[in-house]
Amino acid sequence: MENQGEILIAVLRIGHRPQRDKRITTHVCLVARAFGADGIFVWRKDEKIKENLDKLVKAWGGDFFVDFKNYKKVLNEWKGMIVHLTMYGEKIDKIGEIRNKSKDILIVVGAEKVPPEVYEKANYNISVGSQPHSEVAALAVFLDRLFEGKNLYKKFEDAEMEIVPSPKGKTVIEKGFKTQRS
Ligand code: SAM
Repeated sequence: MENQGEILIAVLRIGHRPQRDKRITTHVCLVARAFGADGIFVWRKDEKIKENLDKLVKAWGGDFFVDFKNYKKVLNEWKGMIVHLTMYGEKIDKIGEIRNKSKDILIVVGAEKVPPEVYEKANYNISVGSQPHSEVAALAVFLDRLFEGKNLYKKFEDAEMEIVPSPKGKTVIEKGFKTQRS
């Protein structure tokens, strides 16, 4: 499965508390973008997160969106499949079935306790192992399995910066010019 340009894969970040969760929510956004999602809905407004992501997208390319919306509204309005990532869920081995059933997938990740209705609304509650870990790790593994590893080195056409994978050192193409960074 590959992105086709329109919004297919979005993430819903539930439980963001602006004072405590800024860094981890930013990491959820970074992982969502880098591993192939089209955008993220964050349930509480935090302009700083959007500002940071918008800057990053300008430099590294793509159309990734950050939107602030009530989680109930997102869940009710989403037309495609809803997958909630939780350590209590079914094994991630369901990924093939999920991939085949729908192109539009909303992936829900929490912070602390997720409201019970999310478990109900989700078409699938999926675990990435049955141990507690992190929404960042769970999202990365889920997206990588969903896209079967194809998004890790995808190129963003409008990027101002691009990394050239190198055995040593840091090689970057900046606005068309190849540079070595120290
Ligand atoms: N008790 C939580 C749970 O239901 O998974 C763990 C809270 S954890 C700090 C925050 C978020 O990380 C969870 O809401 C879930 O989205 C994700 N998460 C943590 N461990 C996970 C696992 N093993 N599988 C899938 N998602 C996980």
